[in-house]
Amino acid sequence: MPAANGATPANLYDLTRGELQALFVTWGFSPVHATRLWNYLYLELAATFSAEVMPDLPEKVRARLHAAATLGILPVALATESRDGFTRKYLLTLGDAERVETVLMRFTGRVTACISSQVGCAMGCVFCATGQMGYTRDLTPGEIVAQAVHVARAIRTLDSAKGQDRLTPGHKDRLRNIVLMGMGEPLHNYDAVMHAIDILRDSSGLAIAAERITLSTVGVVPGILRLAQEQRPLHLAVSLHAATQAERATLVPVAKKWPLDELMAACRTYSETTGRKIFYEWTLIEGKNDTPDHARAVGALLRGLPAQVNLIPLNPTSGYGGTPTALEAAKRFQGVLAHEFKLPSTVRQRRGIDIAAGCGQLATTGA
Ligand code: SAH
Ligand code: SF4
Repeated sequence: MPAANGATPANLYDLTRGELQALFVTWGFSPVHATRLWNYLYLELAATFSAEVMPDLPEKVRARLHAAATLGILPVALATESRDGFTRKYLLTLGDAERVETVLMRFTGRVTACISSQVGCAMGCVFCATGQMGYTRDLTPGEIVAQAVHVARAIRTLDSAKGQDRLTPGHKDRLRNIVLMGMGEPLHNYDAVMHAIDILRDSSGLAIAAERITLSTVGVVPGILRLAQEQRPLHLAVSLHAATQAERATLVPVAKKWPLDELMAACRTYSETTGRKIFYEWTLIEGKNDTPDHARAVGALLRGLPAQVNLIPLNPTSGYGGTPTALEAAKRFQGVLAHEFKLPSTVRQRRGIDIAAGCGQLATTGA
């Protein structure tokens, strides 16, 4: 709907609370109404401006919203649930008919939303379905926020769905955890992602604590340095996959742009500046990067850095033929890291593989 003055209507999910209040002031309304609207949006997860849903807004405010604002809810094109019931994947439709995937993951006692930052991805990692589809466009802050709102709403329906609670005792509460590990490279869309995070963290909104937000990057060096400089209190995960430049470049083409030594220097700066450890992700591919010698190479590379390694057995994608490392070999890899380097690691639980909702399986086909 065009705005009254011909300007593009404001997507309310694009705005921080302060920006919403400022907009209301330019419209000649009290910021009190902006606060009420904010509460409807993020505490009640309202889906329309209607009087039934937002009874405490005066009619003149509602009329202005109808004329000059939108609520960028992303309609569900397809929802799938894994056989074990723990993972739900949503193919969401954007305003220009592009699509992104968002994943709701249920663990005991908590729910995590895995959120996309771009339609497709320009980084081209060979084993990643998003990389295989190429880059279409960046998401706006509102499109990133709307994914979290979608999952927060979905949790409410999980709660009211009879019999579902047994799956995740204690999850009943609200969305508390977000991982930026969906489609796209978040540090390749830095400003929109950080703006969205500011909105998600607002303590009188969705109130996602910074320590429950993890951003995963392929290794965009300028973005890592900027995160360090801005002292953003997030968890940072860096996708490593190989401990030599030559091996890494075969899996992660952007390693040619940001070589391993520059990446490790940026990681060191990040940890020194922020005092934070980094999670290093390692997709385990049988015969390629999963031998004890590979583990020794990563141990040596990360020596002296505050680090934890997250091992992810390869998930299948149509464009890459590799085989996932078996659990036994993954444990061996972990053993080398632990015993020879005192380096903590986890093997990531495989989730939603039957609905292609695992790491690196997200694309826009909904398959
Ligand atoms: N673009 C970011 C975040 C999205 S991918 C990044 O690359 O870090 C999240 C994680 O899944 C990354 O560590 C990525 O390397 C990994 N991944 C991609 N494809 C995968 C696959 N097929 N199997 C297992 N992990 C994969
Ligand atoms: Fe992009 Fe991450 Fe996939 Fe690489 S792994 S192509 S950076 S989404």
